[in-house]
Amino acid sequence: MKDAQRALAQPSRRSALQSAAAMTVGAAVGTVTSGCAAPGELAAAPTPFKVPGVFLPIVGSPLSFPVRRIYCIGRNYAAHAREMGSDPTREPPFFFQKPTDAIQNVAIGTVADHPYPTLTKNYHYEVELVAALDKGGKDIPVEKALDCVYAYALGLDMTRRDLQRAMGDEKKPWEIGKSFDHSAPIGPLHLVRDIGHFTKGSIWLKVNGVTKQSADLTQMIWSVAEQISKLSQANELFPGDIIYSGTPENVGPVVRGDVIECHIDKLPHLSVKIV
Ligand code: MN
Repeated sequence: MKDAQRALAQPSRRSALQSAAAMTVGAAVGTVTSGCAAPGELAAAPTPFKVPGVFLPIVGSPLSFPVRRIYCIGRNYAAHAREMGSDPTREPPFFFQKPTDAIQNVAIGTVADHPYPTLTKNYHYEVELVAALDKGGKDIPVEKALDCVYAYALGLDMTRRDLQRAMGDEKKPWEIGKSFDHSAPIGPLHLVRDIGHFTKGSIWLKVNGVTKQSADLTQMIWSVAEQISKLSQANELFPGDIIYSGTPENVGPVVRGDVIECHIDKLPHLSVKIV
């Protein structure tokens, strides 16, 4: 066992005090730059149980990507904004989050079983490009924003549409409609250094072989760079943050037994079966 692990595994007042002292020193010399917890920070005291981290595999790399936060932009394709009942010409971008453990990793070439969630009778697919950051910051200018992107993936922003709508009608948070277990299926990451950035290209989704959504990434209202810039005005971004960049029009329902297949040019397909 490594020393750090042993220290964590052997609770004692002394080690807790030492950790607290170390944090104070860090603050004094300016190594603690933010009130936010960064991924991988050691606990200030021994923990009574472990909470597993959430990781995404990276194609062509032995590393895995630790997920810090999942941000999602809403209504980022004009035709989808209209089908959701809003005016795409007047709306500034808005974002919501999913919990990191909503991630369902889907391996290339597999059809992952995806559980139909509780509480809904109208369960919708939304195919989306996902950008994964290895750098962050506050007030990131649009011109610098893509420097923060480490990799991209194909993802599904699965949605309990009936609950999302009901909560919206009552001016309550969307959370129960968007931020539930398994609501973020995602393929492996593809490094920018291998695959470049995604500013155009076909994005589509089929259910049981029938095309449901079909658009081009150029139709995004807010580009990935603009999304990063806008988000960084609201929250400081950090390595490990991922951003679901919005879905095109023609979202719709699936039921148990349906197979969803997703595509974005340059990425391998993502497939799940609703069970
Ligand atoms: Mn979405």
